[in-house]
Amino acid sequence: MLISVVVPCYNEEEMLPVFLKEFKDMCKNLDYELWFVNDGSIDGTLEVLRGFSAKDERIHYLSFSRNFGKESAIFAGLCNAGGDYVTVMDADLQDPPELLSRMADILAEGRYDCVAAKRVSRKGEPIVRSLLSKGFYKLINKISDVKIVDGARDYRLMSRKMVDAVIAMSEYNRFSKGIFDWVGFKTHWISYENVERKAGKTKWNIFGLIKYAVDGFFNFSQAPLRIVSSLGVLVTFFAFVYIIYIVYSKYVNGYSIEGWTSMTSIILFLGGLQLLSIGIIGQYIARIFLETKNRPHYIVSESDKDNIIKIR
Ligand code: UDP
Ligand code: MG
Repeated sequence: MLISVVVPCYNEEEMLPVFLKEFKDMCKNLDYELWFVNDGSIDGTLEVLRGFSAKDERIHYLSFSRNFGKESAIFAGLCNAGGDYVTVMDADLQDPPELLSRMADILAEGRYDCVAAKRVSRKGEPIVRSLLSKGFYKLINKISDVKIVDGARDYRLMSRKMVDAVIAMSEYNRFSKGIFDWVGFKTHWISYENVERKAGKTKWNIFGLIKYAVDGFFNFSQAPLRIVSSLGVLVTFFAFVYIIYIVYSKYVNGYSIEGWTSMTSIILFLGGLQLLSIGIIGQYIARIFLETKNRPHYIVSESDKDNIIKIR
């Protein structure tokens, strides 16, 4: 069974030689091909990859015309990998290559279509990030159409069947963890302790993480829209009750002037609610806008192979 390993790389020149050595040590017994995807790095990543591929015919690379993001890099790799089994692995060794042969053994038994890795701890990660991530996964599991196991990574070995399904999901806004769950198939989970990045720096900052979380929500959940509609119904109901109260006060009790404070509070509150609702609806419209444009997910400007899907 040929295993294709897709490795998204963004500014990983420092990390790549370390990764390759560790990978080769850990996976000597496997029949594999490596697909490095250079996601528009601005350091020497591309030169390193050219060197790798010149020395080893099992190593291929795709190099993007600019930075398209990790999701696009994963997509490009999956589209071009030809193995019977395909996996996605970070370049920073946070996805331990030593798990791969165990994953392959489990898949070979034929009972599962996917063997996925999850971290049982987040040790070494900044506490704030851990807390926010935990909160995000709790919430998304509550309100969205997909279930995402806490600690789940993109690191998983998939059968050809499943990979074809994942590629067939051609949406522009990709949230892989959601897509992997959405396509179904039987998944076996194996746990491991968190591993810290071996060299280089994380590519995430707080804004990137927030964008990732927002993408996760809005791509796999209609709950925000439902909440907005329910709020609308609720507010209308209370407004109606209040109108009855005012009219009653005016004609029965003879009051005609109500307090300024309550008026201002109501106006401010409703104004805020309306802006929030428009913002939420805007999130969906923005996504529809991008999807209908049908832009490619990625553009490859260089590769060691000719017969690849260069634009998709
Ligand atoms: N990555 C990428 N494109 C980007 C950002 C990251 O291909 O725009 C790759 C990066 O090179 C690494 C993987 O995605 O192989 C995970 O990135 P990182 O380790 O920075 O994320 P973290 O592990 O901190 O979540
Ligand atoms: Mg990492």
